[in-house]
Amino acid sequence: MQIVRRFNHIGGGAQIPRRVITHAIGEFVDDGTKIMWAPDLIEKLGLSVHYFITPTGTIVQQREDCLRAWHAKGNNENTIGIEWMVPGIHNWDNFLKTIKTEWVSEKQFNSGLELYKHLNKIHGIEAHQRHSDIDPQRKQDPGKGFPWEQLNHALGI
Ligand SMILES: [Zn+2]
Repeated sequence: MQIVRRFNHIGGGAQIPRRVITHAIGEFVDDGTKIMWAPDLIEKLGLSVHYFITPTGTIVQQREDCLRAWHAKGNNENTIGIEWMVPGIHNWDNFLKTIKTEWVSEKQFNSGLELYKHLNKIHGIEAHQRHSDIDPQRKQDPGKGFPWEQLNHALGI
């Protein structure tokens, strides 16, 4: 598994990973004034996640598993946050529309699956949740177009 490290120092102290929370974000985000690569945007917003999975299947790591990241309000303790990048440039409306239909390529899925299997194995992860499962009033990611059942099935859940 190829992991590119691009550390982000924003986040909390030590943790023991128990849950993995799945997110989605535009690969590039257009906020109306400029276009930013997702990992740079997250950092600029004062947030962080553990991993990104790019559309071509590269895994980008921002935080060590044993350190907390600011990725899911009220759920940043003992969780690992993973952002799957939605290919292309997205503003907010376009992003919400795009994640409603299938957007994960086979290459991206297989790479992500490998990471999830690895995390399950090394940490004995107890639960997998989508961001929309834990914060349904505020969050829609990773969306109906994300292959959640397929991922769980492949993980033997
Ligand atoms: Zn999210």
